[in-house]
Amino acid sequence: METVCDKKKLKVIFLPFLSTSHIIPIVDIARLFAMHDDVDVTIITNSTNRDSCRGRSIRIHTVKFPASQVGLPDGVETFNVSTPPDMISKIGKGLSLLQGEIEQLFQDLKADCIVTDMFYPWTADAAANLGIPRLMFLGGSYLSHSAQHSLKKYAPHHLEMTRLQVPDWLREPNGYTYSKKKSYGSLFDTFYDLEGTYQEHYKTVTGTKTWSLGPVSLWVNQDASDKAGRGYAKEEGWLKWLKSKPEKSVLYVSFGSMSKFPSSQLVEIAQALEESGHSFMWVVKNRDEGDDRFLEEFEKRVKASNKGYLIWGWAPQLLILENSAIGGLVTHCGWNTIMEGVTAGLPMATWPLFAEQFFNEKPVVDVLKIGVAVGAKEWRPWNDFGKEVVKKEDIGKAIALLMGSGEESAEMRRKAVVLATAAKTAIQVGGSSHTNMLGLIQELKSLRFEGNCLP
Ligand code: UDP
Repeated sequence: METVCDKKKLKVIFLPFLSTSHIIPIVDIARLFAMHDDVDVTIITNSTNRDSCRGRSIRIHTVKFPASQVGLPDGVETFNVSTPPDMISKIGKGLSLLQGEIEQLFQDLKADCIVTDMFYPWTADAAANLGIPRLMFLGGSYLSHSAQHSLKKYAPHHLEMTRLQVPDWLREPNGYTYSKKKSYGSLFDTFYDLEGTYQEHYKTVTGTKTWSLGPVSLWVNQDASDKAGRGYAKEEGWLKWLKSKPEKSVLYVSFGSMSKFPSSQLVEIAQALEESGHSFMWVVKNRDEGDDRFLEEFEKRVKASNKGYLIWGWAPQLLILENSAIGGLVTHCGWNTIMEGVTAGLPMATWPLFAEQFFNEKPVVDVLKIGVAVGAKEWRPWNDFGKEVVKKEDIGKAIALLMGSGEESAEMRRKAVVLATAAKTAIQVGGSSHTNMLGLIQELKSLRFEGNCLP
């Protein structure tokens, strides 16, 4: 018998955390849900944005960030590469002040389910109070979250990582948990052929439900306008430059949305790139005066030799990675970038810096064997330069292997191409992520039936 609930759309409310690389995948997941006619999607955010997916609109509900109450100037309400350290805790405080309003919104918007970032553990209780499921978006790989689980539970451990590579929250207990157990389940941007073993392992050791839905970016960003919708400025110089380069000849170098380096490290990177003999495109986020002068000189030189192209600030990464001139990337192992690199079928030189990036390096280098490590040894907080400076010789060795013509390099490239095909298959009808997504929506609908709906 058809019920009222069968006809009613499933109302799913998304709450992203306010830093670029957490917003990107959770909004992409919201778009995935919005592709389904029977799902009504709302995103709660504190900065005005609009969003849509393949012609279907997504509601955006804006809450006002209480900047003045926490002593912040208007407009400072997200975490990014230039957030001054003294503002970090104030932004955190501002976000916690919004808790009551957001809880009320879940109720007023009549959510059937909420999908919230792992950094909002309180939403698990909010969902429980409303009698609805909370799905937690966990950024990073299954391997990284399984490893973190094991480290917390069984220290000392078997994974080969040095103490210095382990994040501070695992070195000393800090009482913070992702409220895994309280949530209905978790969502990951990964796919079965990439991490199936770890997905199974994660399920077993945590005893929780989980769905891999990736690569979400590939799934929802299928044409140039989707890709360009990621806040890219209209600057076509990079494209012209890439078009002038032979296939697979350019190295893309980027360290995500939050990383910055001390001058000493920038010098080592610049020299390694220049001495590598390969063409490169380097995304530079530093805007310190001293670095600017040195980098501008460097930029003039590599422009003159036509060997390098610098992008200052925000790069159109999705568009760059799919360009046929790109042959490999140097990455800080942010999980979004790894997924985007895998999707593009590119081998990687891995240079983890902070968050769970040292864990993310492992599947790329040791398990999937589509990458080579530059040999970074020390974890640091995201807003700190850290003490380690990776030498140009080590960077150069990794680049040589990544872009080289020997058998080992060719094998990495082959494996990367095979994975890219698997990524595309995962999101097609019958593919693992596609099947997971359909199953998830069905499950959420049946939960609603068990809850408030009468036949
Ligand atoms: N990104 C981009 N342009 C940039 C820097 C980053 O488009 O100049 C995007 C990138 O494609 C990825 C995200 O921002 O989707 C960065 O996420 P990731 O997890 O790789 O690193 P994080 O920013 O968390 O360190």
